[in-house]
Amino acid sequence: MKKTIIIGSGITGLSAAWKLSEKGYEVSLIESEKSIGGLAKTIKMGNYFLDIGPHAFQCEEKEVFDKVMDLFKDEQGAIPLKKRKIKMVFKGNYVDYPLSIKSILFQMGFISPILSSLSFAKSKIRTSIYSLLSKKTQNQNLTVKQWAINSFGKYLYLNFFKIYTEQFWKIETSELSHRVIPSSVKLNFAKTLKHLLFKNYLDITKREPGKLALVQREEIPCYYPKKGFGEIANKIGNQVKNNGGEIHTSQEVNEIVLNSENSFDVKTKDKTFSGDFVISTIPLNRVISKIKPLHETNIIQSAKKLEYLSLVLLYLIINKKNVLNCQYCYFVDKPYNRITDMNSFSESSSPQGENIFAVEISCHYESKMWKSSDEEIFLMCIQGLEKDNFLKKADVINYKVIKVPSVYPIYRKDYEIHLRETEKYFAKIKNFFSIGRQGQFYYGDIDQMIRIGFDTADKIIKQ
Ligand SMILES: Cc1cc2nc3c(=O)[nH]c(=O)nc-3n(C[C@H](O)[C@H](O)[C@H](O)COP(=O)(O)OP(=O)(O)OC[C@H]3O[C@@H](n4cnc5c(N)ncnc54)[C@H](O)[C@@H]3O)c2cc1C
Repeated sequence: MKKTIIIGSGITGLSAAWKLSEKGYEVSLIESEKSIGGLAKTIKMGNYFLDIGPHAFQCEEKEVFDKVMDLFKDEQGAIPLKKRKIKMVFKGNYVDYPLSIKSILFQMGFISPILSSLSFAKSKIRTSIYSLLSKKTQNQNLTVKQWAINSFGKYLYLNFFKIYTEQFWKIETSELSHRVIPSSVKLNFAKTLKHLLFKNYLDITKREPGKLALVQREEIPCYYPKKGFGEIANKIGNQVKNNGGEIHTSQEVNEIVLNSENSFDVKTKDKTFSGDFVISTIPLNRVISKIKPLHETNIIQSAKKLEYLSLVLLYLIINKKNVLNCQYCYFVDKPYNRITDMNSFSESSSPQGENIFAVEISCHYESKMWKSSDEEIFLMCIQGLEKDNFLKKADVINYKVIKVPSVYPIYRKDYEIHLRETEKYFAKIKNFFSIGRQGQFYYGDIDQMIRIGFDTADKIIKQ
């Protein structure tokens, strides 16, 4: 039986290993971190369960849904249905989610609802005339700036899109592809406004695999395991091991050696794993330089252009409940982008009478923010929370900072050229697959990553 080496134990790598091992194939899953699950893990710190930001399981497809639910079949009520409740704080005002036209125009504190409506109407007329004349579909290869102005007008661009996009990405809107907007869960404003005003928006937010657009996905039921989202990854990991698969943690892959006889040697500092197939789920800008021999050295330049935004998470252990009155809340003019109330996902995430706030700050790897000390990060965030009357320093029992280097693929305006180059390169390596959020430079959700993992396993099984 042929052997597969899987690099990275996030949901994508785990799902491929699950399917292959279930069918009796040999698999070795290699993970650089101490524990499995990647972005979908739950970190246990004493009696606290810390997720990497808010995670909930939604699924479009029966096979994947049943497989995940089956993992919990012996524990009644272990993965209950959760009602979504999300808010946004914009210019000091609470705005309910999903956003309505009324909330966009009135609650968001724009100086002039009339100005924003006029600006929007003008842009709509202009783009309609343009598309009639040129007979071209809108939204192809546009930057965020062009897309937002074309779609919503200058007033809304300057008063919302520019502020929020640049706060999140730390990159000018003229440098980013408009694709960051529909792809990012952060930009609910854009999704909702577009959803409300243009039917054709549903088409441009469709993502493969899966049939639904992002806005429609908001309506699918959400589930959350009582012991933390990471239970899904842990249970898949147990299935892999029960099926005879191997999982090696704390093993960072440094080299992927292509042998002449169509096999691979995957090397970590102290081990070599040999196999007939390799599935890589690690970032594209890191995997290329590990491939030996690398026949096309110019591919390194393309891969380097595919960057990922990092995430700093500050977990505040607090003695207050129901502070946000929602599961998570987006913030527009603060150093943090989103805050999650972990108790609203599961009461078991902290001991009784306590709660956890997960505060997310996006930043570039090795930036000033990335290098800030834990105390600096805590002080910066608590100042904002005190000012907005959410929390006082005295409400905080303890805090922890976790930094994750590769979280959001950055869709710069020319990213597709570089992505296509790396894809072409990989296509020439027989039996090598680069998949998942990092490996395909693609923001998908958990159910979509499971589908990708299963489909890749099927390709190997069929060979
Ligand atoms: C803040 C946030 C909230 C989200 N919320 C939701 C949600 O509510 N619902 C939902 O469905 N999805 C959500 N997602 C998306 C979901 O988390 C991802 O789609 C999924 O976890 C990606 O899995 P992956 O396996 O493709 O990548 P990753 O999870 O990134 O896995 C890659 C793995 O490779 C490992 N690795 C890297 N380099 C090496 C190396 N050299 N050697 C060995 N191992 C290596 C990493 O440590 C990691 O474990 C969210 C994502 C984020 C960031």
